[in-house]
Amino acid sequence: MNVRDSEAVGAMLEAAGHIRAEGEADADIIIVNSCTVRQKAEEKAIGKCGNLNALKDRPRIVGLMGCAVKRLGADVFKKLPKLDFAVGPRRFGMIPKIISDLQEAGYPLERKGAQRLEIPDEDEVPDGLDAHPDAPAKDSAEAFRSYVTILLGCDNRCSYCIVPDVRGHEYSRPAKEVVAEVSSLASRGVKEVCLLGQSVLRYGVRNRAWFDGDGESSYAESFPRLLEALEKVDGLERIRFTSAHPKGCTDELVRVFRESRKVCRHLHLPVQSGSDRILAEMGRRYTRAEYLAAVRKLREFDPEFALTTDVIVGYPGETEADFEETRSLMEEAGFDNAFIFKYSPRPGTRSAALPDDVPTAEKERRDQVLLADQEKRGLKRNQMLVGTVREVLVEGPSLRNKVRWSGRDSGNRIVVFEPSGPLEIGSLVQVRITEAHPQILVGELA
Ligand code: SAH
Ligand code: SF4
Repeated sequence: MNVRDSEAVGAMLEAAGHIRAEGEADADIIIVNSCTVRQKAEEKAIGKCGNLNALKDRPRIVGLMGCAVKRLGADVFKKLPKLDFAVGPRRFGMIPKIISDLQEAGYPLERKGAQRLEIPDEDEVPDGLDAHPDAPAKDSAEAFRSYVTILLGCDNRCSYCIVPDVRGHEYSRPAKEVVAEVSSLASRGVKEVCLLGQSVLRYGVRNRAWFDGDGESSYAESFPRLLEALEKVDGLERIRFTSAHPKGCTDELVRVFRESRKVCRHLHLPVQSGSDRILAEMGRRYTRAEYLAAVRKLREFDPEFALTTDVIVGYPGETEADFEETRSLMEEAGFDNAFIFKYSPRPGTRSAALPDDVPTAEKERRDQVLLADQEKRGLKRNQMLVGTVREVLVEGPSLRNKVRWSGRDSGNRIVVFEPSGPLEIGSLVQVRITEAHPQILVGELA
């Protein structure tokens, strides 16, 4: 989500006449996008901004955006006295204007009292949500792949999570706007879009996304209907979305997965824990059995369906037995990939009132155990695909070995192969898999 917001700000600044710098040292304006979901992430963003103060050897503007700004409010200038501006997540559209105001005010801003803080109301809808670079470099990922925000904020209030406090209430963008944005991206060469929202399957639930005459029959079907509308966009090849929740894995969604050529067979379905007691404390609104039922539904119609997840280890009161439940759930679900997070208490959340009682070393151990399990499981899942032919969207020369190229299959798995002739970035090729590794597949052009 932050990658997308940064990209939108970059596009707006370019439209306002600014030019992308080669690197930090050359830049007259540097904006750091922050995340406060975990303490470490926030510290990293603030630390980065602090280091940038050292670059204040000449007049340049340093700003901070993102959800840490919303959490810290005016205190952000106590932590970072030389910061020129700070903008909360739902007001990033104002950044071009803030910058031109600051440039007019003259330097150094902190001594002129001209520093700017912009924190929106919970429900503000930012300008610039649909801003994308006009003509990204032909060999950049932006040229053929784009994120599109469809849902802002979150209304779920999981006990550990600060997102609803800092990103505000859920708001679904009108479907017409989303379709127009994707059509315009496709017409300039974008082949793949990834639709973004904290709980993307709740699209159109809190507020209407489709309006009279758009053929909407019931709120619950808003998201599958959006997928069907995007399927018709000329030139678009692939549709992804993240993050999902088991409650949204309806028969209607599975029907669209089955019938669509463009909707990718991958779901990022964060589970957080395999213990019913912890899931209830977290307020996740599903049980272990309900989660696994959603997994079964997807894998029954396609055993190769790719599933990835997020897990939190060391939630307050998580016992060894709870942890083992998480381990066994991960095995049962057969995840293709998993992101493991060590619990981090966030101010103002419900769980922050509970003692953070799993020692750091134990969180670390649980993290390592799950990572080692996942490494083996990832390999096993990938071995199942040896001999199959995957459709791969070409991303360019592989980072590790430039002779090889890489891309992704429908399940978002990285596929590495040797090109036999000239290949275009962003094209679709067929690759027969010859080798499996825990994180990548290797193959040859079929
Ligand atoms: N909206 C998504 C998650 C967004 S936050 C969802 O509900 O699926 C991304 C991930 O960060 C979460 O899935 C969770 O695993 C992790 N996370 C969130 N708050 C956390 C905290 N306080 N400590 C550790 N990890 C956390
Ligand atoms: Fe946070 Fe839960 Fe909302 Fe995800 S669904 S953003 S974890 S409150």
